[in-house]
Amino acid sequence: MIGDLRHNDWLRWIAHSILCAIFIGIFTVTDFWGTPLNSTKDYLIILSHWASIVFACTCVNLILTLLPHRGFVIVYATITFLASILAFYRYTMNFTLNTMMLDIILQNDLAVSADMLEWPIFVWVLCATTISILIANLRKQYIIKIKNRWTIGTVILASLTLILLLAPTSRFSRPILNRIPFNIVEMTTKYISERQEITNERPRVFKTANAQSDSLTVVFIIGEALRPSNLHINGYRRENTPNMERLGVVSFDSVWSDYVYTNRSVPHILTRADTSNPNLAYTERSFIDVFNAAGFNTIFLGNQDAEKPYAYFTKEAQTSIFVNLSKGVYNYDKWLDEDILPVYQKELAKNNKQQLFVLHTIGSHWWYNVHYSDSFEIYKPVMKSRIVASCDSMEIVNSYDNTVAYTDWFISQIIEPLKNLNAICIFLSDHGEALGENGQWLHASESTMMNWTAAFVWMSDNYKQKHPYFNQNINHNKHQFYKTDFLFHSVIDAADIQTDILDTTFSIFRE
Ligand SMILES: [Zn+2]
Repeated sequence: MIGDLRHNDWLRWIAHSILCAIFIGIFTVTDFWGTPLNSTKDYLIILSHWASIVFACTCVNLILTLLPHRGFVIVYATITFLASILAFYRYTMNFTLNTMMLDIILQNDLAVSADMLEWPIFVWVLCATTISILIANLRKQYIIKIKNRWTIGTVILASLTLILLLAPTSRFSRPILNRIPFNIVEMTTKYISERQEITNERPRVFKTANAQSDSLTVVFIIGEALRPSNLHINGYRRENTPNMERLGVVSFDSVWSDYVYTNRSVPHILTRADTSNPNLAYTERSFIDVFNAAGFNTIFLGNQDAEKPYAYFTKEAQTSIFVNLSKGVYNYDKWLDEDILPVYQKELAKNNKQQLFVLHTIGSHWWYNVHYSDSFEIYKPVMKSRIVASCDSMEIVNSYDNTVAYTDWFISQIIEPLKNLNAICIFLSDHGEALGENGQWLHASESTMMNWTAAFVWMSDNYKQKHPYFNQNINHNKHQFYKTDFLFHSVIDAADIQTDILDTTFSIFRE
């Protein structure tokens, strides 16, 4: 039997932990701001996401309250302090914490952070922190007896719940860890591991790399979730690729990616990794380094975060620029590839004789509506909710096809300034996308629609004259089956670089 007093203490402990969690949950609300929702069901789903975060917070609090009183107040007030700052910028500027932003705040440009400080944030943070101290101080109202079996049982239960919720295999882990306040820990851990990945130097595995052309521009665009079967250039019913067709882009319509999500496929594409040696993606440098050795000016322009599995390659380029730094998967304002264009044009204007551009686009990433500009809302009606299950399937396809039309335009904007140069542009999407086949949507699960991926090549007239066989061969090879393994060797081959690492049997430019 437990005495009344002890039982009261136990109830107070639980109530206090819930109160602390709900207070933090106020800041979490900003992370859901602007989420497109269409029905009561959508609101209930989002409410359940919010509730799962508050529940996880309660479990954390049950453990943190075991600290001595003062220790708990300091830890809780610090979490609130950070959460209130994130909530402020999320609400006022739609800023989401990610590792790129952490990099800027911690390393590069403190002036940028100083610019963001104005009096409303001081008032907001001061109020939030003061209230949090008052709430944390309620810890004085009860005593936790560590050796009590109720205490031990509660802590074990809280810990197990957290493990179940936050394990990488849990479907709750991503929605919880990517939101306030858990994103503070998640992004800091990710940041540290990305830094380690970048600083672990990889060896150069080739002996020579010599450029044969004295003036050449190579552009490689990493596409996102572009499936070949929804492209008019490949025979799709909707005319969503007019620009590529006008520019004489050659489409490779049978390309297969072994991987169906960005983090695995991008390292595979950029390195010598192939189906037989997939691990080279994590031990070797990318083709960017071959271009460096051959004397090219190398530029990486990213419209997605440099995630850990490929962060290393972004640092191989002599210039590495990221646009749309403060975006995250839970942002629902426009996030467009055209933001790459001003930086691209500026770099092109430098007139480097030999240059390699690697562009990492956001392409046809979910949530489709935010990845095309308003004038590309061609196929209507478009989807209204961010919850896949509550979207009409035709609306999803309409929105997706709008991203295709936008990507077609974006590619043309990359190609246009190359027309009078000796230039080649290669596009390869990291993977495809399922649009309802066998009830499957998006990517990163099991559907061959996610493996089939779009690939294109465009050559300037000057380049065609210099490489008549390459031009002939791509037109001959365009319906052949290739794995994305082709990219590493093909891009080096296209650049006329003589190197011992090149295996022309992979090249799409050879017979
Ligand atoms: Zn992807």
